[in-house]
Amino acid sequence: MKDEDIKIGCINPECADYQIIGKNNTAIRRIVGKNKILMLKCNTCGKEFSERNGTPLFRLKTSPSKIEEVLNHIGEGCSIRVTERLTGVNRNTIMNITKKVGDHCKKIHDKYVKDIEAGEVQFDEKWAFVGKKDKNNVKEDKKKAHNGIM
Ligand SMILES: [Zn+2]
Repeated sequence: MKDEDIKIGCINPECADYQIIGKNNTAIRRIVGKNKILMLKCNTCGKEFSERNGTPLFRLKTSPSKIEEVLNHIGEGCSIRVTERLTGVNRNTIMNITKKVGDHCKKIHDKYVKDIEAGEVQFDEKWAFVGKKDKNNVKEDKKKAHNGIM
């Protein structure tokens, strides 16, 4: 790994080189963990930070490929427990990953999707079964549904 490969600028908002990439102002300080995460240091202000800072991967020990696998299963509608069985990732970790990535996506959405005047909106290819199949309906449910309660 060379310093030219660094894709993140200084994270200190008070630094003269804040978020500037390619100026050779950041250097690799050390590599940590089994995922070989780069710890960087800004040569201008001296601030140390992780290459994952500001990403949903920050402070996650799960490998990026495993995180991708988890998100693919969740995105296809698998439950937390099914995803746990298929990927071997603990359910608490799955929920943590889903929350972090979801919050990150919301931030990106709120930052870039603004003032859109849509004449028509389509939402395709995602559906879910809501309710009960008739064979699972008991008499009371049918009565409530008939009265418009369900
Ligand atoms: Zn700096």
